[in-house]
Amino acid sequence: PAPESAPETATSTGAAGLDAPRLVGRLRATFATGRTKPLAWRRTQLEALRSLLVEHQEALLAALHADLGKGPEEAYRTEVGFTVNEIDHTLAHLDDWLAPRPVALPDRLLPAEGRVVREPLGVVLVIAPWNYPLQLALAPVVGALAAGNAVVVKPSELAPATSAEIARLLPRHLDPDAVAVVEGAVPETTALLEQRFDHIFYTGNGTVGRIVMTAAAKHLTPVTLELGGKSPVVLDEGVDLAAAARRIVAGKFLNAGQTCVAPDYVLAVGDTARAIEPHLAAAVTELYGTDPAARAEYGRIVNDRHFDRLTGLLDSGRTVTGGTHDRSTRYLAPTVLADVPADSPVMGEEIFGPVLPVLGVPDLDAALAFINERDKPLALYAFTDSSATKQRLLHETSSGALTFGIPVAHLTAPELPFGGVGESGMGRYHGEYSIDTFSHSKAVLDKPLPETTG
Ligand code: NAD
Repeated sequence: PAPESAPETATSTGAAGLDAPRLVGRLRATFATGRTKPLAWRRTQLEALRSLLVEHQEALLAALHADLGKGPEEAYRTEVGFTVNEIDHTLAHLDDWLAPRPVALPDRLLPAEGRVVREPLGVVLVIAPWNYPLQLALAPVVGALAAGNAVVVKPSELAPATSAEIARLLPRHLDPDAVAVVEGAVPETTALLEQRFDHIFYTGNGTVGRIVMTAAAKHLTPVTLELGGKSPVVLDEGVDLAAAARRIVAGKFLNAGQTCVAPDYVLAVGDTARAIEPHLAAAVTELYGTDPAARAEYGRIVNDRHFDRLTGLLDSGRTVTGGTHDRSTRYLAPTVLADVPADSPVMGEEIFGPVLPVLGVPDLDAALAFINERDKPLALYAFTDSSATKQRLLHETSSGALTFGIPVAHLTAPELPFGGVGESGMGRYHGEYSIDTFSHSKAVLDKPLPETTG
């Protein structure tokens, strides 16, 4: 076997103030004592994380507002409450998920018993992005702890207020010998990635995803990569356009469009391209009023770089609604663009902001071809009344998720796996899928020796 690194004795420090070998060594020593394995420890950690979220809700909502201008209702629903829900679901099912699963063995092995036992991996690393800086740091931690691991969390430096709260609160509420938070940016993450982990769970973009996977390969560490990309909405003829527009708008402009599973663009079949325009504009007004800048529930762009990138995309089509912006507050109105060519800048990258292009396609075949010529999306959304169209979308495309009638909502059901495929990522989590991700399913076979006679 490959020699174990001896982190406690290593001297190199990758980033100022961070002794990554020592930190990981400390957690590894805790794991080696067996402390994280009993169900009681796991439950205690999950309950402590739950009470942290409830007790410090005000501080967390304030941090989310400081980082992204998130209103309290949305921030509760998509970050604090989301994570509480993930914990509750996990606590309700944990005994069942962790129970050894007996399997029926082939006759040639009998008499024997077989079972599958989920065992923790060891020390895992969670690297989180800025757009849902609480949820995307802590929901993986729920799975990692429930599966009996020690865990290092690296929140995003682009959401500094939330990162600071996570760093302040986690060691106080959770077992500090088994859970560590490392704040910082590229130098700190690079120093962490040099260490040997037993799993790395990364959420963010594909460029960094490749860096993570390369670093993991050195130690043969498995990875989960939760990435992004352009998630299309197929709008079929004959659907209730007003109702569809309301759901598209609600999913798109949540968190000012900075959602990995936000509808990126609308592929409108036939005459729906023109017909949906007034409904999208009306839905924006219905949800955010005539002056979204004045509405507490409408968020802001995370930083100037992203703000400038997004305003640079506004010329990609005719403005149906929105388009106004204010750099001093990083406000960009919910914007719908029509007559958008497929080769325009807004179609060249994941938008990740409040700009919704509508592209017309003549028919379903053209929509399918458009989707299949591009990277496999994290989510594919469709509005259609035709079960034949649903079947074609299901069988003739590939995406992390496929939903009919409502974008974004699938990620709120912990019963469904959440993850991408191809360029949108690898692996999945939420609920029992997190247990799978952060455990090893060990095969156990027990066959008695033949009875000796005489
Ligand atoms: P980000 O810039 O916050 O980066 C994510 C993490 O990577 C951070 O913790 C950061 O410190 C770290 N990082 C950045 N550069 C690094 C480097 N060179 N080496 C090592 N670590 C590094 O977030 P982002 O990537 O801008 O996030 C947006 C992207 O994430 C979008 O593509 C979005 O679709 C995707 N996303 C996916 C999901 C999902 O669940 N699939 C969720 C949210 C966001």
